[in-house]
Amino acid sequence: PVRTRIAPSPTGFLHLGTARTALYSWAYARHHGGKFILRIEDTDVARSTQESVDQIIASMHWLGLDADEGPVFQMQRLQRYRAVAERMVADGTAYRCYCTPEELDQMREAQRARGEKTRYDGRWRPEPGKTLPPVPEGIAPVIRLRNPPHGEVTWNDLVKGPITISNREIDDLIIMRTDGVPTYNFAVVVDDFDMRISHVFRGDEHVNNTPWQINIFNAIGAPLPVFAHVPIILGDDGQKLSKRRGAVSVTAYEEAGYLPEAMLNYLARLGWSHGDEELFSRAQLVEWFDGEHLSKSPAQWDAAKLNWVNAHYIKQSGDDALAGLVATQLQRRGIEARGDERLARLCALFKDRCSTTVELADWVSMYFGDVAPGADDVAAHVTPAVGPALASLADRLRTVEWNKAAIAAAVKETLAEHKVKMPQLAPAVRVLVCGRVQTPSIDTVLELFERDVVTARLQRPV
Ligand code: GLU
Repeated sequence: PVRTRIAPSPTGFLHLGTARTALYSWAYARHHGGKFILRIEDTDVARSTQESVDQIIASMHWLGLDADEGPVFQMQRLQRYRAVAERMVADGTAYRCYCTPEELDQMREAQRARGEKTRYDGRWRPEPGKTLPPVPEGIAPVIRLRNPPHGEVTWNDLVKGPITISNREIDDLIIMRTDGVPTYNFAVVVDDFDMRISHVFRGDEHVNNTPWQINIFNAIGAPLPVFAHVPIILGDDGQKLSKRRGAVSVTAYEEAGYLPEAMLNYLARLGWSHGDEELFSRAQLVEWFDGEHLSKSPAQWDAAKLNWVNAHYIKQSGDDALAGLVATQLQRRGIEARGDERLARLCALFKDRCSTTVELADWVSMYFGDVAPGADDVAAHVTPAVGPALASLADRLRTVEWNKAAIAAAVKETLAEHKVKMPQLAPAVRVLVCGRVQTPSIDTVLELFERDVVTARLQRPV
């Protein structure tokens, strides 16, 4: 059975790259009717936080990538890693090394001085006929993998194709630290084995770790999973996507007004394709995601394309659902609009013009608080010539029935009475009431305000 996992380290928000890998793992499991598992790699105790765990789980939930099993925490499995490491020592696939950090420094310095690649020189590695140094007093040992000295490690990467590394390239990796906490490569293998993981999707920054991991799988007699190393995501500027270059966390995009369906669609397409399809649903992704057509080259983040995808999903969204999201955005600005029955109608009116719910909130906010017309817009459109027409429109609007048809009629009468044209009056009304020059037709826009707000804004001092 297909069993995939995502294994984030809880040292911050859910990174976009990790989210994409999670998405691929999830989609692959769903495609095959398998299971998707969340594992929290919290062995870096100093940097791991509960807050980060909560945020990672919340972001995965937001994206709709709920795990079938887990979270499993590595720090709750220390006994298991220790037991496996002890068994490896007992059967000779691992050994204790008593080198002090100073000794290791000297070893590396000497190697550098000789122009060699630095590597553990195997001084505690047991060999037939070899006498090991006497065990020193008071030094806690690490446990190292007894890496095969010859031969090659080969795997057929689902993304990169066949990869072969000579065992001479890799040394005897530390699998257990002196404090009894496993290193990344060891914990990953024990976990992937225990969780019966069949396919490992992860970022290709880990491709250099895989030969060691394969040798550990072999050492403990575990079957190998399929590895799929997904290329990194590059920022708009062609550099690795990083915090310094803008938003990299799922949370930041949620706050910036992106919809989970859009993020899912965009992230999936970033590094994977299904023909020319750019827009696809979650169900289509699951149907199509069979591990083929994963890109071998780095993906390029494209903010404009993400906006285009998000605009599509905003247009598709139900107005009530958008109303809830816009209420949340407004709340962040200190505007309490939740529950207002106008919200859904406002979303319907403006959603075609927006690529994020933040932009939608920008439109809607004029209904829940005053706007500040720009001086240039006022100068250009609220001219002395339209002043009398504005005053008379305000008068008419004070008494008409408050609906779109009546507002439209009042505007028409005003135009006729003052001999001004719609292209003079409408921008002036928009600037004064909405704080912007371009809006949908003014009767539609005005109708959703309270009458007093409109009349007051039409006569605001400018
Ligand atoms: N904790 C590792 C990471 O976040 C997991 C890598 C893996 O999937 O093996 O990069």
